Amino acid sequence: MVKETIRVYARLKPLGRRQQAGIYSVDDDDKSVSSLEIIVPHDLADGFVNNKRENYKFKFQKIFDQEAKQDVVFDSIARPVAECALAGYNGTIFAYGQTGSGKTFTITGGAERYSDRGIIPRTLSYIFDQLQKDNSKMYTTHVSYLEIYNECGYDLLDPRHEASRLEDLPKVSIMEDPDQNIHLKNLSLQQANNEEEALNLLFLGDTNRMIAETPMNQASTRSHCIFTIHISSKEPGSATIRRSKLHLVDLAGSERVAKTGVGGHLLTEAKYINLSLHYLEQVIIALAEKNRSHIPYRNSMMTSVLRDSLGGNCMTTMIATLSLDKRNIDESISTCRFAQRVALIKNEAVLNEEVDPRLMVVQLQKEIQELKDELALVTGKQRTSELSQEELLQLDKLIETFLEDNDPESTLDVGADMRKIKYCFSHVKQLMNHSKISDKKTVSQHISEEKDTNKAAGKEELKKLKELLQQRDNEINILVNMLKKEKKKAQDALFQLNVASAGSTALEQSLSINLEEKWSPSNCFSLKEAKDLSSSVNRLPFLSRQTGGKMSLGCQEAFEVFKWDHADSITIEDNKQLLKQRFAEAKCLGEKINEVRNKINHLKGELTQRHIQRVVLAVSNPSEELNTLDPVEEKLRTQIEEGKKSYKTMFNRLKGLKVEIEHLQLLMEKAKVKLQKDFEVWWSEESTNLQVCQEKTELVRSPNSTTVYPQFIKSSQPLPTNSFSETTRASSNEETSGKNNSNNFNSSTSKTRTSPSSNTPIPLTGDSQIDADILAFIKARQNILQKKGLGNK
Ligand code: ADP
Ligand code: MG
Repeated sequence: MVKETIRVYARLKPLGRRQQAGIYSVDDDDKSVSSLEIIVPHDLADGFVNNKRENYKFKFQKIFDQEAKQDVVFDSIARPVAECALAGYNGTIFAYGQTGSGKTFTITGGAERYSDRGIIPRTLSYIFDQLQKDNSKMYTTHVSYLEIYNECGYDLLDPRHEASRLEDLPKVSIMEDPDQNIHLKNLSLQQANNEEEALNLLFLGDTNRMIAETPMNQASTRSHCIFTIHISSKEPGSATIRRSKLHLVDLAGSERVAKTGVGGHLLTEAKYINLSLHYLEQVIIALAEKNRSHIPYRNSMMTSVLRDSLGGNCMTTMIATLSLDKRNIDESISTCRFAQRVALIKNEAVLNEEVDPRLMVVQLQKEIQELKDELALVTGKQRTSELSQEELLQLDKLIETFLEDNDPESTLDVGADMRKIKYCFSHVKQLMNHSKISDKKTVSQHISEEKDTNKAAGKEELKKLKELLQQRDNEINILVNMLKKEKKKAQDALFQLNVASAGSTALEQSLSINLEEKWSPSNCFSLKEAKDLSSSVNRLPFLSRQTGGKMSLGCQEAFEVFKWDHADSITIEDNKQLLKQRFAEAKCLGEKINEVRNKINHLKGELTQRHIQRVVLAVSNPSEELNTLDPVEEKLRTQIEEGKKSYKTMFNRLKGLKVEIEHLQLLMEKAKVKLQKDFEVWWSEESTNLQVCQEKTELVRSPNSTTVYPQFIKSSQPLPTNSFSETTRASSNEETSGKNNSNNFNSSTSKTRTSPSSNTPIPLTGDSQIDADILAFIKARQNILQKKGLGNK
């Protein structure tokens, strides 16, 4: 058992140019604790009540200042927890802080750079690395990804869903067993056999989360996300299984509702989040108090799920993320205060070992069989569990003789056979009982003859005996049922075990694949496999879903323009370039590794040849000493050693490159999905705006002035789709000459009237869907051009 308080760390987000000096100072002279002093600027302190303090000091295990990189944070915070999880202890790392302070950045990582990957991907990488190295046990790993929003749990990894809203995801509910263990119904546990599979699942969950979020619910700041790695391990041949869970938690923004000052629907939501964090705080206060018997875990879903992580069987670590800006002083102070309270909580982590009953049954069955075989070997007879009729008769006779024999020295010898011994005992017992009853009967008969008044007592006795008999009958029935059930269970267990053992052998085999083999240069283009794998991740057919299978042409064109202008397009492009570069590097490295390997093989051949030559020489010419060192051989050996060294270095680099490439691919996929989603939101906004405009125009039009905007409403000349896309293509290609472009647009229809809401004349087709697309596109294009200062004035 490991008893220790929750470790609390602080991480300060870089503030860049807005950074103000003198707001805080970090003192980490002491190795085991660091302290953070927050200095409230005079203007802020004065503005408040007079007695507002100016300095606040908080202690942390360690403080990561603005420059701290993700690998350092992982090494200090997450690696020890991951190690414990591998050893069979539960672990939790949770990030707490206001929105924008870097919780997601710390837990999951930044979306752009490989080096920005956060605690989850690094932990997965570390865990699978360790598993690969340890051949002494068989491991199984699963992951789950839960999001809690408005007190409801959602499974982010559910493979069935294709939800567009959070509310459409399958709901997860909490169940409690008689031992008060929490179980999550509907939360899928997905098996991950290696780092790639686990990362793909993480990516799938993140994407689902992104898609489910709308500007209205802003789930990412208002929900808690719990990514859990479940590890179970077993030594070969043992029935003991170790299971551990490692929760990596990104909590909702901790900001207070009074400060946000939003109204209506949003206000209730904001309060709600605060409520669940408020319950978390209550739990923490209760845990920090001595002699508190009741801890209010059940008040919210999040505290129920994290019950073991708070004051239970778990090694827990908290990261307080701070954005120490002048505006955020109050939030930062309350985050630190919360952290100080958390630091008081003691947890007791125990090794989670359990004996698998199925494995136990199998082991016992095996043992029985072995004993039977041994017995058969010793007695020379195969024994069944039943005695034969003949043997029984023989035994009856033996017992009879034994009972009738008055010689005190007489014995009942049935041989070393437990079946016979047991039978004798039960037979003697029967005889005893029988004689007792008949004795009683005789006595009672005797008494009844003498005294009739005692008749009632005899009846009573009989009744009692009848009841006893009934009771025994019932007991026997129950026992028979139980036996039947047990037998069935044992059979089931045996069956499942067969299935499981088939699975674990497969795992063992996959684990035992030699790393070098898997990564030999000839295989190095399993990079392609990785690519295939990442592209086989359930893509979320976002746009196609929204547009019933395909985008309209206008929509596609608008998407092209939008893509051009989107902030992420640079990131995508950069990553694409980087990916290309990495691919090229990997290819080059693979070729080099091949070369080195060939060279080593060649050198080995030479060495053998040289050695043979020397042996032959030594045989034919005994004066030649074979034992003396041959400089040529030595040189060859050194060369081989050098070759091996460089092979190893390059090989490791290639391995690193592979991981980086996979990560970059996932990042790109994620950015693409985000782009599509942003486009979708923007597109529907634009369409709605335009519809409103259109309706207004219709209203303005009087019945006798139907010619006001003829082309807007009634154009019977559909715009040729080709020419439309030509125009837009030009606009996206000639981004810099956007001004000309919009003029062209104007001049081509310069004689038509324009809508009041825009200066651009709008040729329409009469088909409302296409029209809406066209209108939205034109509006979008104008917005883009206007943003760039190129639009029509
Ligand atoms: P939260 O999840 O707490 O709301 P985020 O993790 O989304 O905050 O961070 C907000 C922004 O700040 C993101 O753009 C993120 O990339 C950036 N950021 C946060 N912490 C760091 C850091 N330590 N280094 C660089 N960028 C950071
Ligand atoms: Mg976040």
